[in-house]
Amino acid sequence: AALPVGTPAPPPPAPHLFSDPAEVEALRGDLLAWYDRCKRDLPWRTLAATEPDADRRAYAVWVSEIMLQQTQVATVIDYYNRWMQKWPTLQALAEASLEEVNELWAGLGYYSRGKRLQEAARKVVSELAGRMPRTAEDLQKLLPGVGRYTAGAIASISYGQATGVVDGNVIRVLCRLRCIGADSSSPAVIDRLWDMANALVDRSRPGDFNQALMELGATVCVPKAPLCGECPVKQHCRAQRRKLFGKPTPVPDVEDCGVGGCPLCPPATEPWDSSLGVTNFPRKAAKKQPRVARTATCVLERRGCHGAPEYLIVQRPSSGLLAGLWEFPSLPLVQGLQEEKQREALADHLQACMGWPGVAGGLRFIGEVVHIFSHIHQTYVVYFLPLDGDVTLDPALSPSRWVTEEEFYASAVSTAMKKVLRGR
Ligand code: SF4
Repeated sequence: AALPVGTPAPPPPAPHLFSDPAEVEALRGDLLAWYDRCKRDLPWRTLAATEPDADRRAYAVWVSEIMLQQTQVATVIDYYNRWMQKWPTLQALAEASLEEVNELWAGLGYYSRGKRLQEAARKVVSELAGRMPRTAEDLQKLLPGVGRYTAGAIASISYGQATGVVDGNVIRVLCRLRCIGADSSSPAVIDRLWDMANALVDRSRPGDFNQALMELGATVCVPKAPLCGECPVKQHCRAQRRKLFGKPTPVPDVEDCGVGGCPLCPPATEPWDSSLGVTNFPRKAAKKQPRVARTATCVLERRGCHGAPEYLIVQRPSSGLLAGLWEFPSLPLVQGLQEEKQREALADHLQACMGWPGVAGGLRFIGEVVHIFSHIHQTYVVYFLPLDGDVTLDPALSPSRWVTEEEFYASAVSTAMKKVLRGR
């Protein structure tokens, strides 16, 4: 039955909690000892451990956390090193142009991250006298683009604030440690996980503890085939215990934790599946299918002054998907358009924005390039158009420029456009 308004939610049933202080202590110790032994050497960890200045330390952690959102560690390392070399401080980043930021970010994906990072750096410099906010609460409140997770990571790692973090890795580890099988993307479950992370975090080494929990999720408690045999906290893991020992008596799964209708157990309609073992957890509601989109794009090529090919690129609008990046002239297509109509639509588009009449006849269809964005399944229908002689562009239209192949790859262009050029 619904609770009267204002009544606090009852605590979750004990099997989903860390209610024994001795066990919490042991878990912290086991996890930190493992982290000290096995942690990966990463450039942002070195900076966080050696940089004496708190603002510089926080900045170094902040950049790494923003880059690591949605991107693998192995990919981030090189970008991170180049970024920190180019802009070692907030002040340096605040003075950079968006074009420079986009160029360095090119290939890392989710481009608005770089832009927001720079906007926030400018804010710290102009409104906060160059001083980073000193608590997770203030970081989240004052810095655009810094959510609860990033704020917790910066505050715990840079300042030693005893605050937990919850990201995808932590969700997986906590759900397994405590057999949480309710939809882990639901706000109610996420709130519980934050409570748990805040209660668990080691008071004397919060930054290391948070990184250890995430490292465990990234290297041992991985999604598909977790290495439970090597896991430093396996003796505290209820999913592992359940896998090894099952249940003493066959009781209905709805009574997993002894409380009927438990909000954290797997739903009665999807009980524990013994063939999955610990990977019964976490569980997520089915993902929304990505939107399907088609875009016609044209590689316009001319001979440059030394005979080398040059390509025309135009800049995208400053908001929306791939904001401010450069691309070959492109046109979103309506679904189900036939090849001939696509070609005509693209020719009209080129004519309208570049002012060249009668290009349709020269357009050559090259092929299709598929690129998956997080929420869009994008197909680029690629055409090629060689141009003779010199072409001047109308500067009043959207920004555009001719680039050599080398300049193209060094420009702020998306990975998808690089695929288009490679496939021409
Ligand atoms: Fe994850 Fe297995 Fe360790 Fe449990 S024992 S935390 S499931 S790796």
